[in-house]
Amino acid sequence: MEKLENLDKIVNLCKGRGFIFQGSEIYGGMGNTWDYGPVGVELKNNIKKAWWKKFVQQSENSFGVDAAILMNSRVWDASGHTASFSDPKMDCRNCKTRHRADNLIEDYNKKHDIEMAVDAMSKEEMQNYIVEHQIKCPNCGKCDFTEIKNFNLMFSTKRGVTDDSQDVIYLRPETAQGEFVNFLNVQRTTRAKVPFGIAQIGKAFRNEITPGNFIFRTIEFEQMEHQFFCKEDDGEKFYKEFKQKAWDFAKSVGLNPEHLRFKDHDKLAHYAKAACDIQYLFPMGWSELNGIHNRSAWDLSRHQEYSGKNMQYLDPITNERYIPNVIEYSIGCDRLVLAVLCEAYDEEQLEDGETRIVMHFVPHIAPYKVAVLPLQKNLSEKAKEVYKDLQKNFMATYDEAGSIGKRYRRQDEIGTPFCVTIDFDTIENNTVTVRDRDTMKQDRVKIDDLEKYLIDNIK
Ligand SMILES: [Zn+2]
Repeated sequence: MEKLENLDKIVNLCKGRGFIFQGSEIYGGMGNTWDYGPVGVELKNNIKKAWWKKFVQQSENSFGVDAAILMNSRVWDASGHTASFSDPKMDCRNCKTRHRADNLIEDYNKKHDIEMAVDAMSKEEMQNYIVEHQIKCPNCGKCDFTEIKNFNLMFSTKRGVTDDSQDVIYLRPETAQGEFVNFLNVQRTTRAKVPFGIAQIGKAFRNEITPGNFIFRTIEFEQMEHQFFCKEDDGEKFYKEFKQKAWDFAKSVGLNPEHLRFKDHDKLAHYAKAACDIQYLFPMGWSELNGIHNRSAWDLSRHQEYSGKNMQYLDPITNERYIPNVIEYSIGCDRLVLAVLCEAYDEEQLEDGETRIVMHFVPHIAPYKVAVLPLQKNLSEKAKEVYKDLQKNFMATYDEAGSIGKRYRRQDEIGTPFCVTIDFDTIENNTVTVRDRDTMKQDRVKIDDLEKYLIDNIK
C-alpha cells in the first residue's frame, strides 16, 4: 500500500493549507475537537452533497429530515443508551491518564498482527489480556492499570433556569433516533409506502476520552445516516442492496477499492439479524468507515413500547398491520473526510527534480473547482473579469501573488483540478490556458467556451 502516507503529513498539510485546525487553538486547544477551515468546509460540504444526492435525490423512496439535537430523555431510555451506552475505561495508576481497554488491546493487536474479536470480550477477559500481554500505557509506558469500569458516553446537560426545576437532558449520541421518532410523520406526510427510507445528516456527541487519530474519533462529529423501513421478509435483500450502495458511494468520492473491505461483526446485538462495516485502510491500519445493520423491528417496537404510540404500518393492499424492520446505513462524515484526504495525498517527483505535493480529489468533491491566475500583475483587470464570471457557477479562487510555478503548487496542495491562466494572448484573442492538476498539461480554451469546458471535465 505505497499510497499510505503517515498521518502527520496529512495533519500538517491540513493545518498549513486551511483544511482543518485544532479546536480553540489560540487557547491551547480543546482535546479531541477540530475546526474545518476555508478549504476543509468546502470539501466536507461537497461530500455531504454527494451523499445526499445518492441517498435522497436519486432514490425514489427516500426522504430527508433534520431533527433536533436535544430530544426527550425517554428516547434514550427506549434506545437503550441510558442503560448501556458505555465504554470500558481504566486509569493508569502511574500517570493518572484514562484509557479505553478495548482500544489498548486493538492497538496492541494491530501492531502485532493479531486478528481477534475485541468487541466480543468481557470486562474480565480484557483485564486478563492486558496483564498477560503486558500492554503498556501509551502515555508513560507502564503496565499498571485500575480495574475496568463502564462510563456512559452521553454528554448530559440540564434545562431550566432554576436549580430545583432542572431536568437532565442529553446531546444526542447518534442521529438515528431522529429518523425513528419521525417514522409516522414522514410516512403520513409523504404518503410513502413501505419499503421507504429516511435520511439525515447531523451532529452527534460522545464523551470519549481516548484521543482519536486526528478527525477519526472525535467527541463532536457529523453522521450521515439512512434508515430503510421494510417488511421482515425483505430484510436480507435490502441489507445486501445497501452494502452495495455503501460500497459504490465510497468509490464515488475517490476511495480506491483496494483500500476498502467488508468486515462482518463478530458479535451481534441481541436484536440484530446481520451487521457489517466497510473498513478503510487508514495510515493507522484498517478501521471502520461505515456500518450496515439489519436491526429487525427492534427500534420501532421499543418506541411503541416507551411512547405508547402505535408504530404499525398498514399495508394498503394486503391490509396487513406490522412494525417495519430497519436496515441502517451509517457513515461518519469526518471519518470519510479523513479517508478522502489520505487517499488523495501524493508526493510526486517531477522531471526537474523537484517534488510536488498534490491532492488528487475527484473533481466533484474538490474544495475549489478552478483557480484564476494572471501571469503578471498588469493582467489582473482581465483576470478578475474572468474570475467574477466563473464565480457565478463554480467555487473559484483567485491568486496573483508570487511566481506562476508557486501558485500552481499552492493549488495542487488544496486539490484544485483546474488553473486558468490569463496571459498576453488573452488580451489579443480572448483565450486562456487551462492547466490540469493531475497531468499538468495545458489546453488553450476560448473564454466563451470556458464554462462548458469545466462542466465537461468536472465529474
Ligand atoms: Zn501511564
